Amino acid sequence: MNRRNTIQKQLISKTVMNMDHPDADQVYAAIVKEHPHISKATVYRNLNILAEQKEIGKIEPGEGATKFDFRTDPHYHLRCRECGRLFDADLPLLEGLNSRVQNTHGFTIEKHNIEFVGICSDCKNKIK
Ligand SMILES: [Zn+2]
Ligand SMILES: [Zn+2]
Repeated sequence: MNRRNTIQKQLISKTVMNMDHPDADQVYAAIVKEHPHISKATVYRNLNILAEQKEIGKIEPGEGATKFDFRTDPHYHLRCRECGRLFDADLPLLEGLNSRVQNTHGFTIEKHNIEFVGICSDCKNKIK
Protein backbone atom coordinates (compact mmCIF):
# COMPACT_ATOMS: atom_id res chain seq x y z
CA MET A 1 0.00 0.00 0.00
CA ASN A 2 1.43 3.37 -0.96
CA ARG A 3 1.87 6.32 1.35
CA ARG A 4 -1.14 8.27 0.12
CA ASN A 5 -3.43 5.30 0.73
CA THR A 6 -2.02 4.82 4.20
CA ILE A 7 -2.63 8.46 5.08
CA GLN A 8 -6.20 8.27 3.80
CA LYS A 9 -6.83 5.11 5.77
CA GLN A 10 -5.45 6.65 8.95
CA LEU A 11 -7.57 9.75 8.45
CA ILE A 12 -10.74 7.71 7.98
CA SER A 13 -9.95 5.47 10.94
CA LYS A 14 -9.29 8.50 13.16
CA THR A 15 -12.57 10.08 12.09
CA VAL A 16 -14.55 6.96 13.00
CA MET A 17 -12.80 6.86 16.39
CA ASN A 18 -14.21 10.30 17.15
CA MET A 19 -17.76 9.56 16.06
CA ASP A 20 -20.62 7.62 17.54
CA HIS A 21 -21.75 4.79 15.24
CA PRO A 22 -21.67 6.89 12.04
CA ASP A 23 -22.83 5.63 8.67
CA ALA A 24 -20.58 6.05 5.62
CA ASP A 25 -22.25 9.32 4.59
CA GLN A 26 -21.62 10.84 8.01
CA VAL A 27 -17.96 9.81 7.93
CA TYR A 28 -17.61 11.33 4.47
CA ALA A 29 -19.35 14.56 5.56
CA ALA A 30 -16.99 14.89 8.52
CA ILE A 31 -13.88 14.31 6.39
CA VAL A 32 -14.79 16.42 3.37
CA LYS A 33 -15.09 19.55 5.54
CA GLU A 34 -11.34 19.54 6.07
CA HIS A 35 -10.24 17.47 3.08
CA PRO A 36 -12.40 18.72 0.19
CA HIS A 37 -10.54 16.65 -2.41
CA ILE A 38 -11.23 13.24 -0.95
CA SER A 39 -13.90 11.34 -2.86
CA LYS A 40 -16.88 9.53 -1.46
CA ALA A 41 -15.71 6.32 -3.14
CA THR A 42 -12.36 6.56 -1.32
CA VAL A 43 -14.06 6.98 2.03
CA TYR A 44 -16.44 4.10 1.39
CA ARG A 45 -13.68 1.81 0.15
CA ASN A 46 -11.45 2.52 3.13
CA LEU A 47 -14.27 2.04 5.62
CA ASN A 48 -14.81 -1.44 4.26
CA ILE A 49 -11.09 -2.23 4.24
CA LEU A 50 -10.77 -1.05 7.86
CA ALA A 51 -13.76 -3.19 8.84
CA GLU A 52 -12.32 -6.25 7.07
CA GLN A 53 -9.05 -5.72 8.88
CA LYS A 54 -11.01 -5.45 12.16
CA GLU A 55 -9.63 -2.00 12.85
CA ILE A 56 -13.17 -0.69 13.13
CA GLY A 57 -16.48 -2.42 13.71
CA LYS A 58 -19.17 -2.70 11.04
CA ILE A 59 -22.80 -3.08 12.05
CA GLU A 60 -25.69 -4.00 9.82
CA PRO A 61 -28.74 -2.80 11.73
CA GLY A 62 -32.09 -4.51 11.24
CA GLU A 63 -33.18 -1.38 9.39
CA GLY A 64 -31.32 1.52 7.86
CA ALA A 65 -27.78 2.12 6.68
CA THR A 66 -24.69 0.15 7.69
CA LYS A 67 -22.94 1.80 10.63
CA PHE A 68 -19.32 1.85 11.68
CA ASP A 69 -18.10 1.59 15.24
CA PHE A 70 -14.83 2.39 16.99
CA ARG A 71 -15.46 -0.67 19.12
CA THR A 72 -14.43 -3.92 17.50
CA ASP A 73 -15.31 -6.24 20.38
CA PRO A 74 -18.70 -7.94 20.11
CA HIS A 75 -21.40 -5.95 21.87
CA TYR A 76 -25.10 -5.26 21.53
CA HIS A 77 -26.87 -2.16 20.31
CA LEU A 78 -29.97 -0.15 20.96
CA ARG A 79 -31.46 1.31 17.76
CA CYS A 80 -33.78 4.29 17.75
CA ARG A 81 -36.66 3.64 15.37
CA GLU A 82 -37.16 7.40 14.86
CA CYS A 83 -33.68 8.73 14.06
CA GLY A 84 -31.88 5.44 13.37
CA ARG A 85 -29.05 6.19 15.79
CA LEU A 86 -27.30 3.29 17.48
CA PHE A 87 -26.21 3.22 21.11
CA ASP A 88 -24.15 0.60 22.88
CA ALA A 89 -26.38 -1.55 25.06
CA ASP A 90 -25.25 -1.78 28.65
CA LEU A 91 -25.42 -5.56 28.63
CA PRO A 92 -22.54 -8.00 28.92
CA LEU A 93 -22.12 -10.46 26.08
CA LEU A 94 -24.30 -13.52 26.60
CA GLU A 95 -21.43 -15.95 26.27
CA GLY A 96 -23.40 -19.19 26.42
CA LEU A 97 -26.17 -18.10 24.10
CA ASN A 98 -24.90 -19.74 20.90
CA SER A 99 -24.72 -23.15 22.54
CA ARG A 100 -28.30 -22.84 23.81
CA VAL A 101 -29.65 -22.87 20.26
CA GLN A 102 -30.65 -26.40 19.39
CA ASN A 103 -28.85 -27.68 16.36
CA THR A 104 -31.93 -28.64 14.36
CA HIS A 105 -30.89 -27.33 10.95
CA GLY A 106 -27.37 -28.73 10.77
CA PHE A 107 -26.25 -25.17 11.24
CA THR A 108 -22.88 -24.11 12.65
CA ILE A 109 -23.36 -20.94 14.68
CA GLU A 110 -20.47 -18.50 14.58
CA LYS A 111 -21.94 -15.43 16.22
CA HIS A 112 -25.19 -13.76 17.14
CA ASN A 113 -26.46 -10.21 17.02
CA ILE A 114 -28.96 -8.68 19.37
CA GLU A 115 -30.51 -5.34 18.56
CA PHE A 116 -32.90 -3.63 20.91
CA VAL A 117 -35.31 -1.30 19.12
CA GLY A 118 -36.98 1.65 20.77
CA ILE A 119 -36.86 5.38 20.97
CA CYS A 120 -33.89 7.44 22.13
CA SER A 121 -34.13 10.21 24.71
CA ASP A 122 -33.59 12.98 22.12
CA CYS A 123 -36.50 11.75 20.00
CA LYS A 124 -38.65 11.24 23.07
CA ASN A 125 -38.07 14.88 24.03
CA LYS A 126 -38.99 16.08 20.53
CA ILE A 127 -42.26 14.18 20.56
CA LYS A 128 -43.33 15.61 23.89
ZN1 LIG B 1 -33.76 8.91 18.16
ZN1 LIG C 1 -21.26 -0.04 19.35
